[in-house]
Amino acid sequence: MTEKLLKPEILGFIIFWIFLALIGIFVHFAAEQAVVLPFHAIAEVLTVSLALGIFLVLWYSKSWNERLEYYLIAVSFLGVTILGLFHAALSYPEVAACLSPGASRKASLFLWGESCLAAGGLFVGSLASVSERGGKGLRYTLLFLVLGATATLAGIILRYPFVPGDGPAPAGTNLETAALVLAGGAAAFYMLKYIRLRHPAYLVMTQVSGAILVGGAVFSLGWHAGETFLIINHLYKLAAFCLLFHAVFVVAVKEPFERLSQVQENLRWVNENLENLVALRTADLRVVNEQLRKAATTDFLTGALNRRQFLQKIQEIWLQAKISRQPFAVLMLDIDGFKKINDTLGHQVGDQCLQQVVALARMNLRQNDVIGRYGGDEFAVVLPQADIHEAAKVARRLLDAVESYANPRFTISVGIAAFPWDGGDVERILSVVDHALYEAKHLGRNQYFFFEQEDPEARFTAPGGEALEQLR
Ligand code: GH3
Ligand code: MG
Repeated sequence: MTEKLLKPEILGFIIFWIFLALIGIFVHFAAEQAVVLPFHAIAEVLTVSLALGIFLVLWYSKSWNERLEYYLIAVSFLGVTILGLFHAALSYPEVAACLSPGASRKASLFLWGESCLAAGGLFVGSLASVSERGGKGLRYTLLFLVLGATATLAGIILRYPFVPGDGPAPAGTNLETAALVLAGGAAAFYMLKYIRLRHPAYLVMTQVSGAILVGGAVFSLGWHAGETFLIINHLYKLAAFCLLFHAVFVVAVKEPFERLSQVQENLRWVNENLENLVALRTADLRVVNEQLRKAATTDFLTGALNRRQFLQKIQEIWLQAKISRQPFAVLMLDIDGFKKINDTLGHQVGDQCLQQVVALARMNLRQNDVIGRYGGDEFAVVLPQADIHEAAKVARRLLDAVESYANPRFTISVGIAAFPWDGGDVERILSVVDHALYEAKHLGRNQYFFFEQEDPEARFTAPGGEALEQLR
């Protein structure tokens, strides 16, 4: 309960009514000494200015004028401005003389008309649902409707025949009643809206409508009591308009402006840091590019080059070797009985075996040796600048490493070929190394094989040798 009472809008609500009560008390006592009379004219001028301000702010503010509720209030306050001007003009004896008899009655009719329009705008606004929107057409229709109604009302009041000494005219009583009912209705509906939606703006609107209602009621009740109640009416209306103008200005001008400033500030920050941001983005892109390149060139499971990339690499090495007239060797590795490992221990263990072959090979290879996954359990290695004997040493190391360290235990077979002895181009070298591997398997596995240089024809006796022969 205390928490609820301490809400700023509720505190503001209480303070506002205490303030109105103080104004009432002040005017009541001060009126006796005719101190407050100058307030009348000042209040009138301020009320008209504020009404015009409320209209302008609501009419031109983009954030508000989409909502039907605020269109209604905006146009009604334009009417209030016009009728208020008529009322203020009648305070001047010269103007009043032109419109007598009944100039003071006409002045009060304008006053009531003004209250009627203000309360009417708030009342209809309070009935409009929060989400109701209106287009430009509706906005202008409402504007012309209110201007038409205001002009008609002003015309009727100016031509109204008054007999001097009459009491309040029936027209005045009707306007008075209408203003009070509308202001009461607006206050009640805005209070309901506040209770339902808990938006502080609705409590402000309740206060505004309430102040117009109380100001009107004070004036109505004290009709015969002279200037005091008229001034209270003016001051209460002025307080209500001040509050409304403040609320409208905060929501329609101040807050959007602050949001805009924040956006500008953010933009400036972005501009200032654009270079850093671009550098960061570029670094990110570089990382992603590297990841993409890796994904496109390496085997996902083992990290060795994929077949396509391996073939490209061996082609480069071949070209280099050809130009620099240096040899290179190729090893083809294949796991022995891999199918059985898969079948007995499962594919996952099979995958680990593949990874181990690459890891063990890497440990036993030089920095610039290249390893690629050639097929299912087949890996190819290029040893730049190595001849067949150096390649045989490497193959021996690989065989021993796998036999000693692989877990589960398995072995590999290795075929070896070397450029330029086994062929002049990559295709031929790969074909020979494939046959060498086949021979290694055929001879009992867990060993390497290469075709002896003295017996160059032997390499073509392996299956597929005919095709190789044709290649020559
Ligand atoms: P050999 O000694 O003659 O080489 O017999 P092997 O059982 O190893 O026969 P082969 O080399 O033809 O076996 C290849 C097997 O490798 C067949 C296939 O199921 C398996 N394989 C291929 N790619 C993968 C893979 O990525 N993961 C696993 N776990 N197995 C694979
Ligand atoms: Mg195999």
